[in-house]
Amino acid sequence: MCDPDDSVRAAGNLYLDSAASEAADPDVIKAMLPYMLQEYANPSSVHAQGKAAAASLRKAKSEIASHLGARAGEVIITSGGTESDNLAIKGIAMGMAGGDASQVSRTDIVISAIEHPAVRESAYWLERHFGFRVREAPVDAGARIDLSRLREMVGARTALVSVMLANNEVGTIQPIREVASIAHSCGAVMHTDAVQAAGLIPISMADLGVDAMSLSGHKFGTPKGIGALLLRSSLPYEALISGGGQEEGLRSGTENVAAAVGMAVALRKSLKSLESRNPLLRDSAHALCEAVNRVVPDAILTGDRKHRLPGHVSLVFPGISGEALLVELDVLGISCSSGSACAVGRTEASPTLLAMGFGTDMAKSSLRMTFRHVLNATEIAAIAGRLRDSVSALTALA
Ligand code: PLP
Repeated sequence: MCDPDDSVRAAGNLYLDSAASEAADPDVIKAMLPYMLQEYANPSSVHAQGKAAAASLRKAKSEIASHLGARAGEVIITSGGTESDNLAIKGIAMGMAGGDASQVSRTDIVISAIEHPAVRESAYWLERHFGFRVREAPVDAGARIDLSRLREMVGARTALVSVMLANNEVGTIQPIREVASIAHSCGAVMHTDAVQAAGLIPISMADLGVDAMSLSGHKFGTPKGIGALLLRSSLPYEALISGGGQEEGLRSGTENVAAAVGMAVALRKSLKSLESRNPLLRDSAHALCEAVNRVVPDAILTGDRKHRLPGHVSLVFPGISGEALLVELDVLGISCSSGSACAVGRTEASPTLLAMGFGTDMAKSSLRMTFRHVLNATEIAAIAGRLRDSVSALTALA
């Protein structure tokens, strides 16, 4: 199979949208194939082939857990990040409420102001339908959570605290250990959305002290449609998907054994290359920012300078529409994003940038370039050149 990096370069196009989705790793596909072609039995079936599939699933989950500082029994296979976040927020809150929020004292759900919609909308759904109250903790100009404000917000009424490990729009990494300690000091449950961070930075659930964590495979080398929710076994939890009682009754539905096996391989491979790859991705990001700033001096790097994901460059271009810039760049062969892929098509300002203190106009001027392969000098020059041309064209139009 050809190296995806080679084909991208040969075509002259540049894919700079890894935070939205990454190519599936050929080794992952290779590991998955036997579970679709030969060992395809349903892992819940009682015959020998079913038992073999169940054993492979258990092994994959155990490996996933071991890479993330969790226990084998704590991995629930899901369809991806959105589902994992929904199950975490709604399942834990409902579990704590015993199905009736009016009967419990803990009715607050505290999230950061920059959570992905999968978390934010799940929390507000609980507020709309079940009497929970959502509180949003502010972030600073670099999108790091304000720990002192969080401390004031979390208390005896807090059921759940959910703060993402790394932000999808600006790449800022949060001080999750400190956030978890604040949550636990008040007896609240701590969830983190690790969708952007998994496979890119080392993660240990035990070290972070979190009770629940969401992952999505297609961000680190699996095909789309597989993810996991890691959930401490002692947590109160109400299953949201009813059916045959798979995943210890926590998430019914026949498991995708092939993709679970693939996810274990993808995680193993990403973590193996992380130490050598990340400094190079950081160098690429730094060189790209410098090159962009040389040709568009008023472009501003967003997100925290120090605590940020490798291979993540997010900028605002004052006076330029991020969506229009995205379209111009697409024509010139650069695929990137104007913020979160899940919000494409929207014209409103990015809630993340607004929470960071940017005005409405600036919050509509963002561009995100994310990559998992090291950029060479030719590529960096090409990106900067195409950005310069796009910005000039849009400025002339304005
Ligand atoms: N959480 C974060 C932080 C994300 O960036 C995304 C997707 O970009 C999701 C959740 C949703 O994941 P999925 O695309 O697997 O549904």
